[in-house]
Amino acid sequence: PAAGEVVLDVQAIRKTFGGLVAVNDISFQTRAGQIVGLIGPNGAGKSTTFNLVTGVLSLSGGAVQFRGQPIGGLSARQIAERGVSRTFQHVKMVADMTVLENVALGAHLRGGKGAVSAMLRLDRNEERALFKEAERQLQRVGMGAYLHETAGNLAMGQQRLLEIARALCADPALLLLDEPAAGLRHKEKEALGQVLRTLRDEGMSILLVEHDMGLVMDICDHIVVMEFGTHLMEGSPADVQRSDKVRAAYLGT
Ligand code: ADP
Ligand code: MG
Repeated sequence: PAAGEVVLDVQAIRKTFGGLVAVNDISFQTRAGQIVGLIGPNGAGKSTTFNLVTGVLSLSGGAVQFRGQPIGGLSARQIAERGVSRTFQHVKMVADMTVLENVALGAHLRGGKGAVSAMLRLDRNEERALFKEAERQLQRVGMGAYLHETAGNLAMGQQRLLEIARALCADPALLLLDEPAAGLRHKEKEALGQVLRTLRDEGMSILLVEHDMGLVMDICDHIVVMEFGTHLMEGSPADVQRSDKVRAAYLGT
């Protein structure tokens, strides 16, 4: 997508669980070359919104468009295949495989094959292409020096970068990150922020759910604030920081 093009268009989405309205009339957009933060107190509906966009949950109302096409009724796999990639809050990797093998395996499963054993049935050329792509994405996130390291030996910050490399395989236009800074040390957060900025500058559209306000304020171009399932406000980091509504939502005053 061209810089500034709307990549994700969330239109008045809604999700109810029985009588509970978890997400109520939420609308926002993300653009190419932009990091959008989705923040709000616990229970605000951030994860549910994330799951609605990625097709993990079905919409109770509203619509979601990705690059101008409706994706609201599609399965999680179909949405991923169109170019929406996500990381999960907990890193899933095989501790005794190398970093490169983990990313290649993840890319392969993402490609819809569905079983680890299927990787063993790849022909030589398919396997080579898969490993080449994994290596390219690991280099992109600054993990080029760790390709043959055993994944179980990685520090937490490096594990998160491995996750991001895996999500980048197959060149998504939209990357959704679920609390990528959780449990990271200060230096690791800085390295993560730098990687996300670089991806953004290369034209990636990024939607970031994150509790670490330092990182959010530092790297987001635009922030959407949710409270009790509703859209509380949105604006620049400066707008959000000076908002009395946001302060009240967090402090409960
Ligand atoms: P956040 O990620 O902002 O902390 P969530 O999206 O996880 O918030 O949750 C929003 C609300 O929806 C909460 O009240 C939560 O308890 C509820 N909720 C989330 N998922 C489910 C579910 N699968 N079934 C019932 N209620 C849920
Ligand atoms: Mg959550």
